[in-house]
Amino acid sequence: MIIAENLTIYYDRQKAVENVTFKLDSDQTLLLLGPNGAGKTTLLRAVAGLHQNYKGTLLVFGKPPIESRNVISYVPQSYSLNERVPLTVIEVVAMGALYKRGLMHFNIPRNLLREATEALEFVGLGSLKDKRFSELSGGQKQRVLLARALISKPKLLLLDEPLSALDPSARVEVVSVLAKIKQEIGLAMIITTHDPNPLTEIGDKIMLLNKELIAFGSPEEVLRDEIITKVYGSQS
Ligand code: ATP
Repeated sequence: MIIAENLTIYYDRQKAVENVTFKLDSDQTLLLLGPNGAGKTTLLRAVAGLHQNYKGTLLVFGKPPIESRNVISYVPQSYSLNERVPLTVIEVVAMGALYKRGLMHFNIPRNLLREATEALEFVGLGSLKDKRFSELSGGQKQRVLLARALISKPKLLLLDEPLSALDPSARVEVVSVLAKIKQEIGLAMIITTHDPNPLTEIGDKIMLLNKELIAFGSPEEVLRDEIITKVYGSQS
């Protein structure tokens, strides 16, 4: 379970997220919604154990995030690779696990290659494993990053804007992989998004954040006109 109580997150002394309280069960998916600058990435990074300048309670499976990092996978919004190192798709996936295990070398063990192949098959990209990562489409890259995040068998998967910059058909592909992760792996997920519509089928809970918590509950409870209008104005 993920628990936040009166959580306030800072950059120096500046508050980016203020007094947020919520609970998420270990098999639930939370969609984190809010306008630009609302604090979504900041909250996600704090839950990932990557940002520790906070006050209040934040527990991931009963421990502060920094102590749970071995069971957390975090996929940042923009993922960039050094293009001078022309990695193949399978190397990108396997390196996720090497990095987690504190190993940084290019001799990828055979068992890890097998796990990476399985992870790529899970996201429907087994046939592209030897292609260069840089040559993939945006939707394919995002699915590779999901495979990379899953290979370390996380109990909590944190995804920052996984659908941004994707065209509608690529969004459908990525959402169907997320639905498969939810159904077949059954872990906790927190997904930030500007547009909850493509994701409502997998969201158990929605949080509407605008520095402070505006609403938290089921999609039916939160995605109501008067609540959305409060944050985004009447044009939405
Ligand atoms: P977006 O949807 O535009 O990605 P967001 O909801 O993810 O926005 P954050 O990136 O978490 O919002 O930013 C929340 C607030 O914290 C903003 O006011 C932002 O300017 C500020 N902020 C973000 N990163 C830093 C930083 N490294 N140092 C200082 N302030 C920061």
